Amino acid sequence: MLKGKVAIVTGGTRGIGYAIVKKYLENGAKVALCGTREETVNNALNSLKEENPSYEVSGFCPDITKPEEVSKMFEKVIEKYGKVDILVNNAGISQREDIYSYNVSDFEWIMDLNVNAVFVCSQAAAKVMKKQGGGVIINTSSMVSIYGQPSGVGYPASKFAVNGLTKSLARELAKDNIRVNAVAPGVTRTDMVAELPAEVIKPVIATIPLGRVGEPEEVADAFLFLGSEMSSYITGVILSVDGAARS
Ligand code: NAD
Repeated sequence: MLKGKVAIVTGGTRGIGYAIVKKYLENGAKVALCGTREETVNNALNSLKEENPSYEVSGFCPDITKPEEVSKMFEKVIEKYGKVDILVNNAGISQREDIYSYNVSDFEWIMDLNVNAVFVCSQAAAKVMKKQGGGVIINTSSMVSIYGQPSGVGYPASKFAVNGLTKSLARELAKDNIRVNAVAPGVTRTDMVAELPAEVIKPVIATIPLGRVGEPEEVADAFLFLGSEMSSYITGVILSVDGAARS
């Protein structure tokens, strides 16, 4: 589904991002993944190469909140693969403090990665994609971007902002043939969720009509669809992948 395409995936070293990278490679794309540390980036590259030595994948560690570092990464990817067709803004962090103990610096920390970096990377991608004649940007939102959550207000606030960026950039960039969509996962079995004790996860599952948490591969399928020509007339959409757990 992505033969000949080139993708950049932020936060591609583990969890949902890693599943997206793998899915894109399996579907014929060349992928540049980025993470925070060289060691985790190399571990991800090694396990992908172990799986299939012919995968065309490379790794980067830019500070994705810094325009200069992001531009340099785009330049290097273009040098290596010739273009950038798809940007996946997936890197994200969360925090669960209640409002009485929440620090301004923690709020800013979440906003910096979950929102500012999406802006910075999308701007770099738009410049490149406009010149190329088109492209696709896909953001990672969350089901909490629809209803909020009862603590850790920075995280849902950041994902509401991601939806705003998605819908607005979809309208602004349509004239340049750039589609912008988001995927809003529900509770997904990444390392963090897998480690939760049964007494924590059971009541969560009870609120999910499909009766289970999502798998990273199921979320990655939505990114595959939105990155491919199968979604050529879809832009400005926040696609929920949450087993209908939307409240
Ligand atoms: P994870 O913690 O397993 O992975 C996060 C990724 O982000 C890692 O690759 C990490 O290297 C990267 N990252 C973290 N801080 C970074 C920084 N400062 N700069 C660059 N990269 C950084 O998380 P995950 O559960 O796979 O989540 C991925 C995305 O999905 C996030 O945007 C998250 O908000 C969203 N999400 C996750 C769930 C879930 O249940 N797991 C649900 C809804 C939305």
